[in-house]
Amino acid sequence: MSVWDDVVGQEPSVAVLRDAARAARDLHADPSGRGVKPGALTHAWLFTGPPGSGRSVAARAFAAALQCVRDGEPGCGECSGCHTTLTRSHPDVHAVVPEGLSISVAEMRSVVATAARLPALGRWQVVLIEDADRLTEQASNALLKAVEEPPLEDWLELLDAVQRRINRRLLRPEEEATIKKCITERFPDAKIDDTKLPWRGG
Ligand SMILES: [Zn+2]
Repeated sequence: MSVWDDVVGQEPSVAVLRDAARAARDLHADPSGRGVKPGALTHAWLFTGPPGSGRSVAARAFAAALQCVRDGEPGCGECSGCHTTLTRSHPDVHAVVPEGLSISVAEMRSVVATAARLPALGRWQVVLIEDADRLTEQASNALLKAVEEPPLEDWLELLDAVQRRINRRLLRPEEEATIKKCITERFPDAKIDDTKLPWRGG
């Protein structure tokens, strides 16, 4: 089995995420970054798609692959890193699930502070934010600041339902213009570095 087994019908996206997980492993082995596939790795990921398209499942699988401790392809699905991530008990994988109508700036600052800590067990700090479209403007700004100035160990994964047109697909190369438009509409101050777009696998 692997952590990707539950990410059904998203082969192109899974290929991108697999590349990123491999790049993360390479980077962990050699922090200089030599040997890391250019463009495969970014510290923040936005998973878009309609409800039920598997955003949460894909993000959780990706988090598990990042925390996988077994040699070989990251995301074995069986090691302690994979297992505890999938069962939501890994100490370095944090989920933010809004209970109210919005995610407050205080909550987001707390998340950012958590993400900045060194991992307790795993290789990275991973934060999964569900329904990121519920971020208040101030909370968005707090998050963006962290995204723009991340420590190396800081991974933030955003789940967002704003781009309904990307039916049954996550990030695809041909959707790049649409995705960038979506990001800049939601986060006018965001700076998009083309060389770091995760789907530019090189
Ligand atoms: Zn594993």
